[in-house]
Amino acid sequence: KRVHICSYLQSIMERVLPAFKEKLIQLKLDCEDNLYFSIDPIRFDQVFLNLLDNALKYSNENSTTQIKAFKMNDSIHISIEDEGIGIPKEDLPYIFNRLYRVDKSRSRATGGFGLGLAIVKEIVEAHGGEISVKSKVGKGTCFTLVLKED
Ligand code: ATP
Ligand code: MG
Repeated sequence: KRVHICSYLQSIMERVLPAFKEKLIQLKLDCEDNLYFSIDPIRFDQVFLNLLDNALKYSNENSTTQIKAFKMNDSIHISIEDEGIGIPKEDLPYIFNRLYRVDKSRSRATGGFGLGLAIVKEIVEAHGGEISVKSKVGKGTCFTLVLKED
C-alpha cells in the first residue's frame, strides 16, 4: 500500500503520545512533505511502535525524542533519535539479535524480552529496507531506516 509518510508518522505519534507525556518526554516530528513509501501498514506499525517503546523505556524524564523523515540520495530516511541512556559500543553489533539485552540487571527493571529490535529488522528488510544505529552512552541513540520511495 502506498502511504503518505508524514500522515502515517503523525498517526503513529498520536498513539504513543500519552505514554510520552506521562514520562514528560517531548516527542517531535519533523517531516518533509510529499514523501510516500510502499508498506504493509499493519506490520510496519510494529517497527515504529517498537522503536518508540525503546526510546521511551531507555530515556529519562524531561528529554526529547525526535522523529525525522526526509529524502536523501533518492531514498527515504526516517530516524528516531532519543536522548536516553545510550548503548555501549561493544553491545551495538548484537542488539538486533533475538533475546539480546544490554546489561541484564539494568534492563530487568524496564521489562522486555529482547525481541523488539529483531522483529523491527525483519520487517524493515522484508520491505527491502535497511536499519542502522548510532549511539553514545549517556547521550542517546539514533536508529535510521532507509527505504525506497514510491
Ligand atoms: P522487548 O522489545 O522485547 O520488549 P527490549 O526492549 O529489551 O525488549 P529490544 O527492543 O530488542 O529488546 O532491544 C534490545 C536491547 O537494546 C535492549 O534491551 C536495550 O538494552 C538496548 N536498546 C534498544 N533500544 C535502545 C535505546 N533507544 N536506548 C538505549 N538502549 C536501547
Ligand atoms: Mg524493545
